[in-house]
Order: sequence, then structure tokens, then C-alpha cells
Amino acid sequence: MKKIKEITKGKAKSMFTTENQEHLIMHFSDDTSAFDGKKKEALLGKGVVNNQFNAFIMDHLKQNGIETHLVEVIDNSDSLVYRLDMFPIECVIRNRASGSICKRLGTEDGLILENPLFEFFLKDDDLGDPLINDEHIISFGWATHEQILEMKKLTYKVNEILSKLFLDSGLILVDFKVEYGVHNGKILLADEFTPDGCRLWDSETMKKMDKDRFRQGLGDVVESYHQVADRLGMNIKT
Ligand code: ADP
Ligand code: UDP
Repeated sequence: MKKIKEITKGKAKSMFTTENQEHLIMHFSDDTSAFDGKKKEALLGKGVVNNQFNAFIMDHLKQNGIETHLVEVIDNSDSLVYRLDMFPIECVIRNRASGSICKRLGTEDGLILENPLFEFFLKDDDLGDPLINDEHIISFGWATHEQILEMKKLTYKVNEILSKLFLDSGLILVDFKVEYGVHNGKILLADEFTPDGCRLWDSETMKKMDKDRFRQGLGDVVESYHQVADRLGMNIKT
């Protein structure tokens, strides 16, 4: 499988066309960014662990009835995926308050929420990915009412499946972000699920094992991603 042309170079991944129009190669780079791109660094080995981490999670979700864009892993840091029409939207679920919601609502870090909280954000770096609601999505035509319902249903299901998976390995899934796109009229889970896009805390010590280690300058970022992968029984090739 050959990369033909880079069509998007994002903050952590690049997408390449292939000979097959239906497929893209998703390359995970070592680049890491936070605070709307204000903090940037290349973390050696992050792309390799994230590509394989993502594939493990996507496979687990598939086994549990969630359809995803992943076709196959083709290299340590590359995967083949279906080319989707992406919604310009991020879907976030929070089981505990952390990150932006603490600033927005003055909440204490780690507060357990009565119910998992679903939030939509617009994918727009220049605007700092603002919080939006269903009404914005319908009014601006970013998705239909039915698609909104489907994305919410799928994201709650992802939360249920993965909260259990992580807790069984002694990790609390605090929150996460996922993205969806459409393939042949069907909504598929796309992009990635890695410690770059979720918060994972050790359930005994509450140690942060995710990208907050980078955001907060705590060090050992890639090492922590490997520790999470090991706990879940992933066999990461380096
Ligand atoms: P960002 O856009 O936040 O900088 P990345 O570095 O992760 O993000 O870049 C990956 C880009 O590829 C994102 O814009 C994402 O929406 C898009 N993408 C993810 N999966 C697919 C897919 N299957 N088909 C088309 N685009 C995708
Ligand atoms: N997230 C992400 N990409 C974004 C924004 C958020 O992957 O562009 C993830 C983030 O890692 C966290 C969850 O979504 O797991 C909620 O993020 P939050 O709104 O708290 O923003 P943050 O403080 O992380 O910028």
C-alpha cells in the first residue's frame, strides 16, 4: 500500500491518498500540540504507540458493535482507513470534570458527574474549537437531526465499552473526544482514540496517564502511553 499525496497535515496526523479512492493512509506523527497550537513539541515514539493504541481500541469497539473507519494497520505508525466525509464537529463525553469545563464552570478537577455529560465542539482552530449545541449544528447545516442523535448514541456506547475496558486495567476514563464521518450513507467512528484525545487516571493513585502530562509539563508522556498500552495487554512494536 503506497502513499500518493498528502491531503491534510493536521496537528498530530497526516492523511494520504492511495491507489484506492475509497481509502486513505493515516500517518501518526510524533508532533504534539496543546492550547490551540501554542505549545508544540515532537515526542519521540509517540506516533508509533498511538497508531497501534488506536488500532487496538478501534478493534475492541468493532468487536462490541461500533463500526469504525479502520481497515487495517499497515506499518508501525500508519493505518489504512476509509475516506469519509467528516462532520466538522468534535463529540466529547465527560465522566468527571476536568480541563476546559473546570475553567468554564468553575468546577473542581475530578468532580464525578451525576451522569456522563455529552458536549459538541466545532472543529475550528482559529476560533479555539468553541462549544456548540444541537441547534447550532442544525442551523448551520453541519449535520441533520438524525445524524446528531446517532452520533450521541454511538458516543455514549463508546463511553460504556471503553470505561469498562480501562477500569478493568485500573484506569479511570475521565473524558474523551471522538469524531465521525459518513461512508456510503453510514456514520462511522473516525479519526483516533489514543491518550492524546482522552483523559486516563490511575484508579488508585489518580496519576494522569494521558496528554495532560504534556499540557501540564509533567514529563514521561510517551512512557505513560506505553504503560497504559501494557496494562491493556497491547503488544506495541517499536
Ligand atoms: P487536527 O485537524 O486536529 O489537526 P489531526 O492532526 O488528527 O487533527 O488530523 C487528522 C485530520 O484527518 C482531522 O482533520 C480529521 O478530522 C481527519 N480525518 C480523520 N479520519 C478521517 C477519515 N477517515 N477520512 C477523512 N478525514 C479524516
Ligand atoms: N480533546 C481533543 N481534541 C481537542 C479538544 C479536546 O482530543 O481539540 C479531548 C481532550 O484530550 C480531553 C477531552 O477532549 O480528553 C475534553 O477536552 P477539554 O474540553 O477539557 O479541553 P482541553 O482542556 O483538553 O483543551
